[in-house]
Amino acid sequence: MASEDAYTAEPFVPARGGLPALRKAAADCRGCPLHRDATQTVFGTGDTDARVMLVGEQPGDQEDRQGKPFVGPAGRLLDRALEEAGIDPADAYVTNAVKHFKFTRAAPGKRRVHKSPTQREAAACGPWLAAELALVEPELIVVLGATAGKALLGSSFRVTQVRGTVLEEEIHGRPERLVPTVHPSAVLRADDRETAYRGLVSDLKVAAQALE
Ligand code: SF4
Repeated sequence: MASEDAYTAEPFVPARGGLPALRKAAADCRGCPLHRDATQTVFGTGDTDARVMLVGEQPGDQEDRQGKPFVGPAGRLLDRALEEAGIDPADAYVTNAVKHFKFTRAAPGKRRVHKSPTQREAAACGPWLAAELALVEPELIVVLGATAGKALLGSSFRVTQVRGTVLEEEIHGRPERLVPTVHPSAVLRADDRETAYRGLVSDLKVAAQALE
């Protein structure tokens, strides 16, 4: 694997072959240390003709076990919020800024607890997200939470400052429109879950309008 200063997925990303080739190659990515403890790579799902791309942080425990993004509790909440906002989840391409599950354990054999990826790990994984964006060419990117925002828009990104607005930025060399919002797992953790959920739906309605 690369030295610590050179963590990057770049050498593992195939130049051709479309999404199937990307997904296959990502399964063997060793671009940073996160592959060591995770069960498997969790690559994005959806079609290349998807109009909207949803970008989360990293796979969770369920996603790591099943090999698919947003299949756990946060994913179910996201699907409900998308439908309420007028976006068909089946029409979206869904992925994460980081493709391996990062976690800690309080003690050996204990439950795996999510640990946020570092900026360096997110940057290392960036070539996969860049390749997905180049193939899917979405009309809109929904940015789910701070890690995805920092990965796409830089370390100064603050989700509270820009959530529910349409941003226009150059991402990996392409002009993109983005709507940031909170990560659905933040809704699950919120003290006032209903208010947090309504905020997520409200932001997703901005995304739905931007797609009209
Ligand atoms: S997190 Fe990304 S860069 Fe790191 S090993 Fe997994 S796929 Fe590769």
